Amino acid sequence: MVLILIATITSVASPAPDSISSKIVSTKLIQTADSIEIRFRADRSIPAFQRPERNGNTIVLRLTGVVHADTALATTLAPAHITATADVIRTFLVYRLTVPPSYHTCSARRDGPRDVILTLSTRDASTAVTAGTEPPKAMRNDRSRWSLDVIVIDAGHGGVDAGAEGVNGVYEKDVTLSIAKRLRALLQTAMPTTKVVMTREDDTFVELYRRTQIANENNGKLFISIHCNSMPTKPHPAHGCETYILRPGRNDDAARVAARENASVKFERSQSPYASMTQDQLIVATMAQRSFVQLSEKLASYVQRSVRNGTPIEDRGVSQAGFFVLVGASMPNILFETAFLSNTSDAAYISSARGQQEMAASIVNAISSYAASYRSLLEK
Ligand SMILES: [Zn+2]
Repeated sequence: MVLILIATITSVASPAPDSISSKIVSTKLIQTADSIEIRFRADRSIPAFQRPERNGNTIVLRLTGVVHADTALATTLAPAHITATADVIRTFLVYRLTVPPSYHTCSARRDGPRDVILTLSTRDASTAVTAGTEPPKAMRNDRSRWSLDVIVIDAGHGGVDAGAEGVNGVYEKDVTLSIAKRLRALLQTAMPTTKVVMTREDDTFVELYRRTQIANENNGKLFISIHCNSMPTKPHPAHGCETYILRPGRNDDAARVAARENASVKFERSQSPYASMTQDQLIVATMAQRSFVQLSEKLASYVQRSVRNGTPIEDRGVSQAGFFVLVGASMPNILFETAFLSNTSDAAYISSARGQQEMAASIVNAISSYAASYRSLLEK
């Protein structure tokens, strides 16, 4: 269903968002006996880049706030038998390089504000990027930057985008905002030194890409998008809560949920960065989030456990799917489907003040557990 949805919107042109100002204007190749350096040079500073990710013979390098404008890239890389594609996905420029199999390791570094150098090496893979259980290295090296000091709460939908309509007539956008506000209030008490950022505080429409942009701009260390589930027909027996992490959907049920939530893009301006996002690009975008997956999964499992213990809502488990609203979050992130608005009993509970308060309290408990385990990881 995600594929079908995306196919219907790929025809819309997608210029880069306004915030992109730098261009990669040249690429330079330096080859030695056992390594290759590719220097990407921008006309202005490159705001950020991520550790390159390797998947077989494919290496993905992701730069923030830059577009590709070097027409000679293919010619530059040809002598090293490397082919490359450059795609803009939201505010990210994603290079995907197919390299000869002998290059086991890859790394990237900055050389001045305008240059990022990608190094490929035939030396052994001891330094290869792996998705481990440890926090990203940057977290351990710079604790102040990675302390859990900013939590971003995203109330799903809003304004013209009402989200699902409940079997009892309530709108998802109102339920999510109410839970988000309760969550903020409880967090401010439970974690007084933590800043809580809301992507919206009233009944306004916020574009999906803007939500993670707000989170990134505020240096969020955790992003929680709150939603309500719904089936196409109502009343419907399906009930319970589920937490999603960002990965292309692996089953029909998860894909259905992602398609419904991603449908919010239909309310966005035609230049929405998601307008041209293909399933393939989504996969690349999610690869770039791999360093956060372990922590996102941990938070997701805490949320499910805490809601199971703190509310009458049934635990449907943690799942994964390609949610646009999570794409590009430079922090651990989850999308939480609190309950089914298409189910009579779930809808009554989640529409009530008591239900919303218990739900918010359960999320706070989950965040507290997460914070404790996150601290112990950092202290290792
Ligand atoms: Zn939703």
